Amino acid sequence: MIREAVIVGAGLGSRIKDVIDQRPKGFIELDGQYIVEMSIKKLIAHGVERIIIGTGHQSQWYEDLKNKYPLIETVYNKDYATTGSMGTLEVCAPLVTGDIFLLESDLLYDSIALFVLQNDHHKNIILGSGKTNSGDEVYLAVDSKFELSGISKNIEEVGKPYAELVGISKISQKTLKVMCDFAESKREEIPKMEYETALMAAQNLGENLFVRKIEYLAWREIDDANHLQLAKEKVLPIILENESLREVRREVLLNPGPATTTNSVKYAQLVADVCPREEEFGLLMKNISDELTDMVGSKEEFATVLFAGSGTLADEVMISSCVPQNGKLLVIDNGSYGKRMAQIASVYNIDHDVFSSSTYEALDITLLEKQLKEGSYTHLAAVYHETTTGLMNPIPKIGKICHELGIVTIIDAVSAFAAIDIDMKRDCIDFMASTSNKNILGMAGVCFVFANKKELEKLKDEPMRNYYMNLYDQYQNFNKTLQTRFTPPVQVLYSLKQAIIETKLETIEGRYERYSKCWEILIEKVEKLQLKMLVDKNLQSRLITAILEPQNSSYSFEEFHDLARERSFTIYPGKLGNINTFRISNIGDIQPIEMQRFVDFMEEYFNSIK
Ligand code: PLP
Ligand code: MG
Ligand code: MG
Repeated sequence: MIREAVIVGAGLGSRIKDVIDQRPKGFIELDGQYIVEMSIKKLIAHGVERIIIGTGHQSQWYEDLKNKYPLIETVYNKDYATTGSMGTLEVCAPLVTGDIFLLESDLLYDSIALFVLQNDHHKNIILGSGKTNSGDEVYLAVDSKFELSGISKNIEEVGKPYAELVGISKISQKTLKVMCDFAESKREEIPKMEYETALMAAQNLGENLFVRKIEYLAWREIDDANHLQLAKEKVLPIILENESLREVRREVLLNPGPATTTNSVKYAQLVADVCPREEEFGLLMKNISDELTDMVGSKEEFATVLFAGSGTLADEVMISSCVPQNGKLLVIDNGSYGKRMAQIASVYNIDHDVFSSSTYEALDITLLEKQLKEGSYTHLAAVYHETTTGLMNPIPKIGKICHELGIVTIIDAVSAFAAIDIDMKRDCIDFMASTSNKNILGMAGVCFVFANKKELEKLKDEPMRNYYMNLYDQYQNFNKTLQTRFTPPVQVLYSLKQAIIETKLETIEGRYERYSKCWEILIEKVEKLQLKMLVDKNLQSRLITAILEPQNSSYSFEEFHDLARERSFTIYPGKLGNINTFRISNIGDIQPIEMQRFVDFMEEYFNSIK
């Protein structure tokens, strides 16, 4: 997979500068968006996590864009007025750490181009298209192996052209170096070199540059006013239609996970088959573990251990692996998931007590502290966010008390991680579980345990209570081999990687803000309809809301659910003892506008049964 891109965006744009007010060409606006920003979004959706932009003319525009997309790095080519695009590529090259997509900044293109390049096994590919009749063609000629044999604006120079250069290439790190070395060696002879010249040189120097032609690719480079008009009238409509045809039907899941995912996370599963024992896949898993750790602590002190399985598996891993033979566990039970952890402890005959607390009222910290002090507990297990009710437990406070007493903390953060700001060290959490299909917004199938390495090492000689789910063994084996002991869900991990890229862009804080907006829209309507909520507003997580079913014989959850499904919304029932609720979750890739549509429907339904 290509994870880095370089965009050369330093140029003066002399043929169009008057039309676009002297800005860099990437900032030509189409459909209310900058074309370079459209390109950046497409790169991100295709798995790119670092975008290096070579800037020059009016570089401030790119600096401003960088504030919006922290995955952008800019490099200023101070000689942009006298060097060509190769000069800009040369200043970017030192930042490159792998194979890249190389793009021009003034391009409008159908994102299928990136899918094709990601999927093609050739290391170096120059993308070409059929005839555009744009009047500014760069022609590509190929040899019998479809490798580059000529590149020029002058058709006579290439002989019989095979394709037109689009301006998107896939270049290996090694070939990039050959290109840069060539440019360096020709500095005096060709001070103003375009990157096309260096591509041809690399081919002549023994790098294999394959030309991949997409005959009917919708694309346009915008160098003058005529191109701009073509782009607006002819090309953009085709691109928008093509891309919309590839969108997956939108279903808004208001159940508490698996959560609604983006199209790009869904598509990230469509990768070439790979044996998970290959190093490239091991490195992907290592990267995923490290990125997850980064979200909750430092890699020096914490590690993330991946398992195939759902959230309950991660809970079972923690309970069965982290409490030693002579340990004693206290489990906080104020909802289904706390109860489940206690059940797991029972199944393994782990010495434990249960601290029961109301499912909808705040936990009594003083009482808990008293029990922790009086018992001889070594470990405490609790749920961060009780998904059954939407009740949040004050984990940082509980963690602090535990650590003061030398008690190790085991936290189920299945539905809290990646929505709530968690710092395991600050919040005194030693072991913590979550999954790929909740707030990190990936597909179901991977769960993970975050571990305090010091505590993890203490488990080294503990007898195993089970085989598949042993935390230390999985950790140790992965560190040694870059492999999980048993088959990992390959495609789910690719989509998890994409979900991580998107989470970093939105930020956990930003995600919580979006969730809060959706929650506020919901609450406002719930109050307007005079429905009652199970948990007091101030104790709610803002991630899920349990709403009491009305005492109205016309109300039917099934009918409400089915009508909602017809509108592409999925709601969830919730029974707590003898209290009947329905639950509306707002985790996932859900936008406030969609929540507004849902609450309008909800109002319609409740008015219809009055
Ligand atoms: N713990 C919590 C807090 C949860 O919300 C869930 C699922 O919703 C689980 C554990 C169990 O996860 P799974 O159903 O993936 O096994
Ligand atoms: Mg060009
Ligand atoms: Mg151009």
